[in-house]
Amino acid sequence: MSKKPSAGSIVEARCTRCRSVLNHTIVAMVGEQIVRVECNTCHGVHNYHAVKEDKPARATAAAGAGAKKSAATRSPRTDPAAAERDAWAALQPLDPAASVPYDMNGKFRKNDLIHHPVFGLGVVQAVHANKAEILFKDGKKLLRCG
Ligand SMILES: [Zn+2]
Repeated sequence: MSKKPSAGSIVEARCTRCRSVLNHTIVAMVGEQIVRVECNTCHGVHNYHAVKEDKPARATAAAGAGAKKSAATRSPRTDPAAAERDAWAALQPLDPAASVPYDMNGKFRKNDLIHHPVFGLGVVQAVHANKAEILFKDGKKLLRCG
């Protein structure tokens, strides 16, 4: 004989502000689902987070959301590094023989192919007063020049 929860009754829920499981008063329900609760401790009103054993609710939600998108897309959403990787891929193949060694006193121009002792081959993307934006395999770097 489980009595159904209804607006105004007390449930145990995870409070987003207190970060622990506390008594909450149900504020809003949709059908038999509790949607909004008010924390009896901090009186914050927030979405209802059911009390889960052991696992934080987040882990389950993430797994559910991640299931649709394949594991192939490892990088999260719009990550600038991904754009740089694409830009780098578009520049291939680069001919190492055509590159010039990077020199912080050197003058570079856009699209120059340079070779950096640490970062390897890079293509100059833009030149500022005394810095050059150079795209390397590992991403874009701003290096001194001129
Ligand atoms: Zn609270």
